[in-house]
Amino acid sequence: MQHIKHFIDGELVDPASGSYLDNIEPATGAAYSFVADGDTEDVDRAVAAAVRAFPTWSVTPAEERSQILLKLAQLIENRLEDFARAESVDTGKPIAAARTIDIPRAIKNFRFFATAILHFQSESHATDHVALNYTLRRPRGVACLISPWNLPLYLFSWKVAPALAVGNTAIGKPSELAPMTAFMLSELCEEAGIPPGVLNIVHGLGRKVGPALTEHPDINTVSFTGGTATGADIARRAGPTFKKLALELGGKNPNVIFADADLDAALEAAIRSAFSNQGQVCLCGSRIFVEGAAYESFVDRFVAEVRKLRLGDPLAPDTQQGALISREHRDKVLRYIELASDDGGTIRCGGRAPNPVNDRCRDGFFVEPTVVTDLPVDCRVNREEIFGPVVTITPFETEDEVVSYANDTDYGLSASLWTENLSRAHRIADRIACGTIWVNCWMLRDLRVPFGGMKHSGVGREGGEEALRFFTEPKNICVKL
Ligand code: NAD
Repeated sequence: MQHIKHFIDGELVDPASGSYLDNIEPATGAAYSFVADGDTEDVDRAVAAAVRAFPTWSVTPAEERSQILLKLAQLIENRLEDFARAESVDTGKPIAAARTIDIPRAIKNFRFFATAILHFQSESHATDHVALNYTLRRPRGVACLISPWNLPLYLFSWKVAPALAVGNTAIGKPSELAPMTAFMLSELCEEAGIPPGVLNIVHGLGRKVGPALTEHPDINTVSFTGGTATGADIARRAGPTFKKLALELGGKNPNVIFADADLDAALEAAIRSAFSNQGQVCLCGSRIFVEGAAYESFVDRFVAEVRKLRLGDPLAPDTQQGALISREHRDKVLRYIELASDDGGTIRCGGRAPNPVNDRCRDGFFVEPTVVTDLPVDCRVNREEIFGPVVTITPFETEDEVVSYANDTDYGLSASLWTENLSRAHRIADRIACGTIWVNCWMLRDLRVPFGGMKHSGVGREGGEEALRFFTEPKNICVKL
């Protein structure tokens, strides 16, 4: 079986300890490769390489850095099908999704930041006729980039691309549950022309490799995407050395549907938004609120459509629902479904770990897409992030009521809002406490917009100029005229 090695100082290397962890294929429940079990020694070597590479990379002309990242994008695109298959095997997501969403977006991330850096501007401020201020934005140094398993290469590249584009060097830490495509990326770095030490990738358990990175004295920038509890741990560890932090955390996103909306469009998007990637997207709309007049018929139609979703082997081309990431996660999702029943919820469809989808997937981690109604808004199932194929539907009558429902959670990542009433759309968009509000759409992404969460969904913003600013240090120079 393949060994997923660290990528340090331009070389694929074994972990210092020599030990590897099983890497499980979620659709089969069996180990299919090994991933390096990294530790402090590996992190120290990677950081030392990044420190050595920084002085040269940080003054490499932007155009040259841009060309290198464009080449990397091209190399991934040349192997799109290999990457898509690897992502599907590693995560259990349908191969169609990996082929049309995950890998194309990773390529786009590199292209976007490779060209954005050529247009990056900094500010100047004329103080009457007395002085001229101008702001330099220089790369900060060594960044650590920690990413989750749900959109592995998509989110890893979302951090690597801007960090390197502006001239930082970096240590990437992909999730131990889905490390394969980051490993495949490391195999392309030399051919793309990334100098040794500029991008290093250390694999292994978050609880071991994570603190070694977030407490490291030579790392001054931490960009993290993952769970809220992990984000809190990172903030605690990174605080004492004043590292610059961006935390992209969990969500419990409301999808608010008024009776005057285009209900066909709302229905189609609500299904995608609840069940994309088996509900394992931070932006998934896991709480649907429907205005009373449209509620009953919406629920009936929604349930009928959800029953048609094809759950199957992620490698089958027509599969729409694949496996969940791990046995533990599958069991956690099933516990929430039990809790929904205990709290008086009605399971309208799904609710079980299905019978084997085929012989190959006999021991895979599958859960049926599940729709729950009749739950109180403030119960745990409606307030906590489940991160699986479970959606609740709740009726409402007034704007005030639905705004209070939407905001009744610690999270504040995104929301969708469906109405044909323009002023109502603006009014409510302003009142829902989330970093992103989609009106009459979901997941319509423009890579230039600020992306991130409020409340326990995170600190800071990624995307476009926000990312370029995050990964640079502003210095104001004031010249008296
Ligand atoms: P996780 O927090 O368990 O792990 C994320 C990464 O952090 C992994 O690489 C892991 O190895 C590492 N890690 C674990 N413990 C660490 C520690 N103590 N210090 C440093 N790093 C550590 O999250 P997950 O289960 O991989 O991902 C699912 C979560 O990610 C969900 O909550 C989801 O909402 C969130 N997410 C958020 C966004 C967003 O943009 N806001 C996007 C995708 C996923």
